[in-house]
Amino acid sequence: MATLSDRLDHLLGRKVAEPLAADFEIHTVEDLLRHYPHRYATQGAELGESKPPEGAHITLVATVVKADVVPFKNRSGKMLRTVLAADTQRVDATFFNPQKVAHAIKPGVRAMFSGTAKYFREQLQLTHPSYLILPAADAEPVVGGRVRGSGELADMARIAQGSDSAVDMEIFDRALIPVYPSTRDVQSWTLAKCVRQVLDQLDPVPDPLPAGIREELGLIGLDEALRLVHRPETKDDVDRARERLRFDEAAALQLVLARRRHAVDERVAPACPPRPDGLAAAFEAQLPFTLTDGQLAVAGEISADLTRAHPMNRLLQGEVGSGKTVVALRAMLQVIDAGYQCALLAPTEVLAVQHARSVRQMLGGLALAGELGADDHATRVTLLTGSMPARERQAALLDAVSGAAGIVIGTHALIQKGVEFNNLGMVVVDEQHRFGVEQRDVLRARARDGLSPHMLVMTATPIPRTIAMTVLGDLETSTLRELPRGRSPIVSNVVSATEKPAWVDRAWARIVEEVAQGRQAYVVCSRIGDGDEEPDDGGELLVDDFFTGDGSPAPVTKSSTRKAKPPKGSDAPQTAAALAVFDQLRAGPLASVRVGLLHGRLPSDEKDTAMRDFTAGDIDVLVCTTVVEVGVDVPNATVMVIVDADRFGVSQLHQLRGRVGRGAHQGLCILLTAARPEAPPFRRLSAVAGTNDGFELAQLDLAQRREGDVLGAAQSGTATTLRLLSLLDHEEVIESARAFAHAVVAEDPDLSAHPGLASMVTAGLDAAGLDFLDKS
Ligand code: ADP
Ligand code: MG
Repeated sequence: MATLSDRLDHLLGRKVAEPLAADFEIHTVEDLLRHYPHRYATQGAELGESKPPEGAHITLVATVVKADVVPFKNRSGKMLRTVLAADTQRVDATFFNPQKVAHAIKPGVRAMFSGTAKYFREQLQLTHPSYLILPAADAEPVVGGRVRGSGELADMARIAQGSDSAVDMEIFDRALIPVYPSTRDVQSWTLAKCVRQVLDQLDPVPDPLPAGIREELGLIGLDEALRLVHRPETKDDVDRARERLRFDEAAALQLVLARRRHAVDERVAPACPPRPDGLAAAFEAQLPFTLTDGQLAVAGEISADLTRAHPMNRLLQGEVGSGKTVVALRAMLQVIDAGYQCALLAPTEVLAVQHARSVRQMLGGLALAGELGADDHATRVTLLTGSMPARERQAALLDAVSGAAGIVIGTHALIQKGVEFNNLGMVVVDEQHRFGVEQRDVLRARARDGLSPHMLVMTATPIPRTIAMTVLGDLETSTLRELPRGRSPIVSNVVSATEKPAWVDRAWARIVEEVAQGRQAYVVCSRIGDGDEEPDDGGELLVDDFFTGDGSPAPVTKSSTRKAKPPKGSDAPQTAAALAVFDQLRAGPLASVRVGLLHGRLPSDEKDTAMRDFTAGDIDVLVCTTVVEVGVDVPNATVMVIVDADRFGVSQLHQLRGRVGRGAHQGLCILLTAARPEAPPFRRLSAVAGTNDGFELAQLDLAQRREGDVLGAAQSGTATTLRLLSLLDHEEVIESARAFAHAVVAEDPDLSAHPGLASMVTAGLDAAGLDFLDKS
């Protein structure tokens, strides 16, 4: 008998086991049984709805519809050309040795075919596939008999013949034939046979899930699930098996996260109860507006977190302009009121500088500690960047270490470069998914006197709930859904530069009109165009995290040396570069207004000047790259033209356009593209133009890329990856697994009473690729 941990080379022999190990990293019984069929061939055979990618090795069961022996076009000899009906799809298959196959491959014959997918005029084709003739669907079960077929499939079938030389046709003589992810050396058929052999010997598999939870969720046992997923009789068997196995995947992930949350909660943080006479209260009193209900609710959640002596670990998400920064600032003041310091981390220097400016402005007298006209208990806001002159930097470092600065603002480098704080109480991370578990751990490790700082991570990229529950699942989340009153939604238009070149001119004219009204505008380009064609990363940390650097083509290819073309006209398929656009607009359509330039590779004093001039209104139009994507806040800017908009991802476009319409005036975003209206990129842009709901767009984004991209490396390889769980489709499963994990960990944090679950966690750690997710 066998158990899950038994090695396959012992059980099946080296010869069989080696290719499994080589091609799939399948070493143990468990590895093999976790290699689930990805399809089940049925009566008419099947491919599923989606077309396999070109070059993929596929196995399918199909019925021969047509079979004709025809001469080759370009050489002598003949071939057998067939048409196969595979479920809903038609497949063309060609065989080079008609004299050998024509007697077997005849209309009406049902067979399993295996080969490499190719397309000709969108038609799926198999060239000289191996095949195995199957018993007719309604025939008597075959017990033994001659193998008819060719190539590896039939070879395998022959190998599978028992000592009595009866063919093990039982594997095929089923209502549902499992079809496995396979390779040339490891056919679906081989896998089916190995699985069958293993299942026949397998001892009952112990179940890691407590019986109670299984009952509650209506899940079948693990033993039954593993057997049914490979050898189902009915579709319902498949569903029940998958449901159980899927829950296990979700549970493993959620147990990892629940334990992480628990570990954080075990740590001690400075308790910062609100003080009615403190800075936070004074700040609220002096705000020129009232906080929205959403802001008040979130501020309340955060305030309660800060009051506790355990570290807050919270994600604050909200549409651009929903007022996250105000909420964060209020929270920081509560921490300062309790006698601790705060760090505010931005992804780029541009943003850090801007934050410092707007935070000081919002605080007014409250931030002028040590200066004339300061409030009584005022604090100090200190900017600390890598490009500061040495003396200024020295002073800033001193502010941090002495505790003179209540708020230290800088880039993420701030914590990595080991800046010392006197008593750091909270860290706010702005607009950054990249700030993952590892960085959060670095921060906690820097706790003094055993005190971990509270942590607030802000993001303007709406994160679909399922992602928030998995990728970022160790964070509590707060969401700001409403925009402050008096804000009109941004209007977006897609303009095809090829079909409607006149509209492009109209876009520039529109900018001139807005400027005449006293407003400002952005023109965003997908690349810089200074010869160094790396995507613009703002000069520091990359902003193309897994949401914003999404599935759209990279802004430029590294090898691209093409000269930039004007962003207009009917023959401008190449992407326009910021430098070129800057020159052209200045010399042409925007000659009458003041145009500035901002990109990530400008020296930082020039970046700063451009940003300051734009903020001050000394520049009317800012030609820029995605450096303005996150957080840049110039309420007077009302128009954004995005050149080659198809080069950006859905969420990124949404981020970008959030830069306009932040004041009282209507925002307009024009998406320029060379794509034709019927092309997919144009439709994608239209979807972006069609809604301002960031969550809807995030979902669209996710749907387009599927979670494979999100999970990246975690998808391939080991037997413990997420196989059945989809972050897109299985929100409910993730949710119930989360509740389950929460309850278990609350009672039994180290899972010592649940050894089965503990081993699932080990699997979950590998599977989740959580570190990968966090870093990517
Ligand atoms: P976010 O960080 O979410 O993008 P901010 O906090 O920067 O948003 O706020 C965007 C703009 O809206 C800022 O100019 C801010 O002063 C303003 N604002 C924030 N909250 C309110 C409110 N409740 N009422 C009016 N204006 C607000
Ligand atoms: Mg902000």
